[in-house]
Amino acid sequence: MNLLIMGPPGGGKGTQCEILTKELNITHISTGDMFRENVKKGTELGKKAKEYMDAGQLVPDELVVAMVKDRLSQPDCAAGFLLDGFPRTVPQAEALDRTLNEMGIKLDAVLNIAVPRERLLERLTGRRVCKACGATFHVLFNKPKVEGKCDKCGGELYQRSDDTEATVNQRLDVYEVQTQPLIAYYREQGLLKEVNGDQEISKVTRDVLAVLGR
Ligand code: ADP
Ligand code: AMP
Repeated sequence: MNLLIMGPPGGGKGTQCEILTKELNITHISTGDMFRENVKKGTELGKKAKEYMDAGQLVPDELVVAMVKDRLSQPDCAAGFLLDGFPRTVPQAEALDRTLNEMGIKLDAVLNIAVPRERLLERLTGRRVCKACGATFHVLFNKPKVEGKCDKCGGELYQRSDDTEATVNQRLDVYEVQTQPLIAYYREQGLLKEVNGDQEISKVTRDVLAVLGR
Protein backbone atom coordinates (compact mmCIF):
# COMPACT_ATOMS: atom_id res chain seq x y z
CA MET A 1 0.00 0.00 0.00
CA ASN A 2 1.44 3.40 -1.05
CA LEU A 3 0.09 6.21 1.11
CA LEU A 4 0.59 9.87 1.74
CA ILE A 5 -0.34 11.60 5.01
CA MET A 6 -1.09 15.33 5.08
CA GLY A 7 -2.15 17.81 7.71
CA PRO A 8 -0.84 20.89 9.48
CA PRO A 9 2.38 20.93 11.55
CA GLY A 10 1.40 19.32 14.86
CA GLY A 11 -1.61 17.62 13.28
CA GLY A 12 -0.40 14.22 14.49
CA LYS A 13 1.12 12.86 11.28
CA GLY A 14 4.30 11.52 12.86
CA THR A 15 2.37 10.02 15.79
CA GLN A 16 -0.02 8.20 13.46
CA CYS A 17 2.84 7.08 11.20
CA GLU A 18 4.58 5.34 14.12
CA ILE A 19 1.44 3.23 14.59
CA LEU A 20 0.30 2.83 10.97
CA THR A 21 3.64 1.72 9.53
CA LYS A 22 3.68 -1.19 12.01
CA GLU A 23 0.02 -2.01 11.48
CA LEU A 24 0.30 -1.91 7.67
CA ASN A 25 3.91 -3.12 7.44
CA ILE A 26 5.05 -0.28 5.18
CA THR A 27 8.05 2.09 5.20
CA HIS A 28 7.79 5.50 6.87
CA ILE A 29 9.35 8.32 4.84
CA SER A 30 9.39 11.61 6.75
CA THR A 31 11.17 14.44 4.93
CA GLY A 32 11.42 16.39 8.21
CA ASP A 33 13.20 13.42 9.87
CA MET A 34 15.49 13.08 6.85
CA PHE A 35 16.46 16.75 7.05
CA ARG A 36 17.04 16.54 10.82
CA GLU A 37 19.28 13.50 10.26
CA ASN A 38 21.28 15.47 7.68
CA VAL A 39 21.56 18.44 10.06
CA LYS A 40 22.81 16.11 12.82
CA LYS A 41 25.41 14.58 10.54
CA GLY A 42 26.49 18.01 9.24
CA THR A 43 26.06 17.08 5.54
CA GLU A 44 25.94 19.75 2.80
CA LEU A 45 22.20 19.14 2.45
CA GLY A 46 21.78 19.51 6.22
CA LYS A 47 23.66 22.82 6.24
CA LYS A 48 21.43 24.20 3.47
CA ALA A 49 18.19 22.88 5.01
CA LYS A 50 18.90 24.14 8.54
CA GLU A 51 18.62 27.82 7.57
CA TYR A 52 15.11 27.29 6.25
CA MET A 53 14.01 24.98 9.08
CA ASP A 54 15.14 27.40 11.79
CA ALA A 55 13.23 30.20 10.07
CA GLY A 56 10.03 28.12 9.82
CA GLN A 57 10.28 28.21 6.02
CA LEU A 58 10.14 25.38 3.50
CA VAL A 59 13.37 23.97 2.11
CA PRO A 60 13.50 24.71 -1.68
CA ASP A 61 11.54 22.24 -3.81
CA GLU A 62 14.51 21.00 -5.86
CA LEU A 63 16.40 19.85 -2.74
CA VAL A 64 13.39 18.03 -1.28
CA VAL A 65 12.34 16.43 -4.56
CA ALA A 66 15.83 15.03 -5.25
CA MET A 67 16.02 13.60 -1.71
CA VAL A 68 12.60 11.91 -1.96
CA LYS A 69 13.27 10.52 -5.44
CA ASP A 70 16.41 8.85 -4.15
CA ARG A 71 14.59 7.51 -1.07
CA LEU A 72 11.70 6.03 -3.08
CA SER A 73 14.14 4.08 -5.24
CA GLN A 74 15.47 2.15 -2.23
CA PRO A 75 14.37 -1.48 -1.88
CA ASP A 76 12.44 -1.07 1.41
CA CYS A 77 9.87 1.09 -0.42
CA ALA A 78 8.91 -1.66 -2.84
CA ALA A 79 6.47 -3.29 -0.40
CA GLY A 80 4.71 0.02 0.27
CA PHE A 81 5.40 3.39 1.88
CA LEU A 82 3.82 6.12 3.93
CA LEU A 83 5.05 9.59 2.89
CA ASP A 84 4.87 12.10 5.75
CA GLY A 85 5.52 15.82 5.29
CA PHE A 86 5.93 15.55 1.53
CA PRO A 87 4.64 17.01 -0.76
CA ARG A 88 4.19 20.44 0.81
CA THR A 89 3.80 22.54 -2.36
CA VAL A 90 1.99 22.03 -5.68
CA PRO A 91 5.31 21.76 -7.62
CA GLN A 92 6.41 19.02 -5.17
CA ALA A 93 3.13 17.16 -5.76
CA GLU A 94 3.59 17.42 -9.53
CA ALA A 95 7.17 16.15 -9.22
CA LEU A 96 5.94 13.24 -7.11
CA ASP A 97 3.32 12.36 -9.75
CA ARG A 98 6.05 12.31 -12.42
CA THR A 99 8.40 10.22 -10.27
CA LEU A 100 5.74 7.63 -9.41
CA ASN A 101 4.72 7.47 -13.08
CA GLU A 102 8.31 6.79 -14.10
CA MET A 103 8.51 4.07 -11.45
CA GLY A 104 5.20 2.58 -12.63
CA ILE A 105 3.55 2.86 -9.21
CA LYS A 106 0.45 4.63 -7.91
CA LEU A 107 -0.71 6.19 -4.67
CA ASP A 108 -3.56 4.21 -3.09
CA ALA A 109 -4.81 7.06 -0.90
CA VAL A 110 -3.98 10.47 0.54
CA LEU A 111 -4.94 10.91 4.20
CA ASN A 112 -5.71 14.42 5.41
CA ILE A 113 -5.61 14.74 9.20
CA ALA A 114 -7.62 17.88 9.96
CA VAL A 115 -7.00 19.84 13.19
CA PRO A 116 -8.12 23.42 13.86
CA ARG A 117 -5.29 25.96 14.03
CA GLU A 118 -6.04 26.98 17.63
CA ARG A 119 -5.04 23.49 18.86
CA LEU A 120 -1.68 23.41 17.11
CA LEU A 121 0.41 25.87 19.10
CA GLU A 122 -0.13 23.86 22.30
CA ARG A 123 0.55 20.58 20.54
CA LEU A 124 3.80 21.80 19.00
CA THR A 125 5.28 23.67 21.97
CA GLY A 126 4.53 20.64 24.21
CA ARG A 127 6.02 18.11 21.78
CA ARG A 128 9.01 16.07 22.95
CA VAL A 129 10.94 13.70 20.69
CA CYS A 130 13.31 10.83 21.52
CA LYS A 131 16.91 11.59 20.55
CA ALA A 132 17.61 7.91 20.00
CA CYS A 133 14.57 6.44 18.21
CA GLY A 134 12.53 9.51 17.14
CA ALA A 135 9.34 8.49 19.00
CA THR A 136 7.04 11.44 19.72
CA PHE A 137 5.46 12.41 23.05
CA HIS A 138 3.60 15.37 24.52
CA VAL A 139 4.00 16.90 27.97
CA LEU A 140 0.21 16.87 28.48
CA PHE A 141 -1.48 14.76 25.79
CA ASN A 142 0.91 11.84 25.39
CA LYS A 143 3.11 11.80 28.46
CA PRO A 144 6.06 9.42 28.72
CA LYS A 145 5.90 7.12 31.77
CA VAL A 146 9.09 8.68 33.15
CA GLU A 147 9.52 12.40 32.52
CA GLY A 148 12.21 13.12 29.92
CA LYS A 149 12.69 9.44 28.97
CA CYS A 150 11.38 7.52 25.97
CA ASP A 151 8.91 4.70 26.80
CA LYS A 152 10.11 2.66 23.85
CA CYS A 153 13.90 2.74 24.18
CA GLY A 154 14.74 4.74 27.32
CA GLY A 155 16.40 7.46 25.20
CA GLU A 156 16.48 11.11 26.22
CA LEU A 157 13.60 13.33 25.09
CA TYR A 158 14.29 16.77 23.60
CA GLN A 159 12.34 19.72 22.28
CA ARG A 160 12.81 20.47 18.57
CA SER A 161 14.48 23.85 17.99
CA ASP A 162 11.66 24.84 15.61
CA ASP A 163 8.92 24.09 18.18
CA THR A 164 9.11 27.56 19.75
CA GLU A 165 6.08 29.86 19.66
CA ALA A 166 7.50 32.31 17.08
CA THR A 167 8.65 29.61 14.66
CA VAL A 168 5.44 27.62 15.08
CA ASN A 169 3.30 30.61 14.02
CA GLN A 170 5.50 31.10 10.96
CA ARG A 171 5.23 27.38 10.07
CA LEU A 172 1.43 27.49 10.41
CA ASP A 173 1.25 30.53 8.09
CA VAL A 174 3.48 28.75 5.55
CA TYR A 175 1.26 25.65 5.80
CA GLU A 176 -1.92 27.63 5.08
CA VAL A 177 -0.49 29.41 2.04
CA GLN A 178 1.73 26.74 0.44
CA THR A 179 0.48 23.32 1.56
CA GLN A 180 -3.28 23.58 2.10
CA PRO A 181 -3.93 23.90 -1.69
CA LEU A 182 -2.82 20.26 -1.97
CA ILE A 183 -6.06 19.15 -0.32
CA ALA A 184 -7.96 20.27 -3.44
CA TYR A 185 -5.20 18.83 -5.67
CA TYR A 186 -5.68 15.33 -4.27
CA ARG A 187 -9.45 15.66 -3.95
CA GLU A 188 -9.56 16.30 -7.71
CA GLN A 189 -7.48 13.15 -8.26
CA GLY A 190 -10.09 11.21 -6.23
CA LEU A 191 -7.47 10.10 -3.70
CA LEU A 192 -8.34 12.20 -0.65
CA LYS A 193 -9.54 10.56 2.60
CA GLU A 194 -10.35 13.02 5.35
CA VAL A 195 -9.98 12.19 9.04
CA ASN A 196 -10.77 14.31 12.10
CA GLY A 197 -7.43 14.71 13.90
CA ASP A 198 -8.95 16.60 16.81
CA GLN A 199 -9.67 13.45 18.83
CA GLU A 200 -7.70 11.04 21.00
CA ILE A 201 -4.70 9.47 19.28
CA SER A 202 -6.21 5.95 19.33
CA LYS A 203 -9.51 7.21 17.87
CA VAL A 204 -7.68 8.98 15.04
CA THR A 205 -5.89 5.69 14.26
CA ARG A 206 -9.20 3.79 14.21
CA ASP A 207 -10.72 6.35 11.84
CA VAL A 208 -7.68 6.20 9.54
CA LEU A 209 -7.84 2.41 9.36
CA ALA A 210 -11.58 2.61 8.70
CA VAL A 211 -11.21 5.02 5.75
CA LEU A 212 -8.56 2.66 4.36
CA GLY A 213 -11.03 -0.21 4.66
CA ARG A 214 -8.99 -1.97 7.39
P1 ADP B 1 3.14 16.23 13.04
O1 ADP B 1 4.02 15.06 12.67
O2 ADP B 1 1.89 16.30 12.22
O3 ADP B 1 3.87 17.54 13.07
P2 ADP B 1 3.11 15.00 15.70
O4 ADP B 1 2.65 13.61 15.44
O5 ADP B 1 4.55 15.19 16.01
O6 ADP B 1 2.62 16.00 14.51
O7 ADP B 1 2.20 15.57 16.90
C1 ADP B 1 2.44 16.87 17.46
C2 ADP B 1 2.28 16.80 18.98
O8 ADP B 1 0.92 16.57 19.30
C3 ADP B 1 3.10 15.68 19.63
O9 ADP B 1 3.59 16.13 20.87
C4 ADP B 1 2.07 14.54 19.81
O10 ADP B 1 2.36 13.73 20.94
C5 ADP B 1 0.77 15.33 20.01
N1 ADP B 1 -0.40 14.65 19.43
C6 ADP B 1 -0.44 13.89 18.29
N2 ADP B 1 -1.70 13.46 18.05
C7 ADP B 1 -2.48 13.98 19.04
C8 ADP B 1 -3.88 13.91 19.34
N3 ADP B 1 -4.72 13.20 18.57
N4 ADP B 1 -4.31 14.57 20.45
C9 ADP B 1 -3.45 15.30 21.23
N5 ADP B 1 -2.14 15.40 20.99
C10 ADP B 1 -1.64 14.75 19.91
P1 AMP C 1 8.41 18.46 9.81
O1 AMP C 1 9.27 17.53 10.60
O2 AMP C 1 7.58 17.77 8.79
O3 AMP C 1 7.61 19.39 10.69
O4 AMP C 1 9.42 19.37 8.98
C1 AMP C 1 10.36 20.23 9.62
C2 AMP C 1 10.92 21.24 8.63
O5 AMP C 1 11.63 20.57 7.58
C3 AMP C 1 9.88 22.09 7.91
O6 AMP C 1 9.47 23.23 8.66
C4 AMP C 1 10.67 22.50 6.64
O7 AMP C 1 11.61 23.53 6.91
C5 AMP C 1 11.44 21.23 6.34
N1 AMP C 1 10.67 20.33 5.44
C6 AMP C 1 10.22 19.07 5.73
N2 AMP C 1 9.56 18.55 4.67
C7 AMP C 1 9.59 19.49 3.69
C8 AMP C 1 9.08 19.57 2.38
N3 AMP C 1 8.36 18.56 1.83
N4 AMP C 1 9.30 20.70 1.66
C9 AMP C 1 10.01 21.72 2.18
N5 AMP C 1 10.51 21.72 3.42
C10 AMP C 1 10.31 20.63 4.17
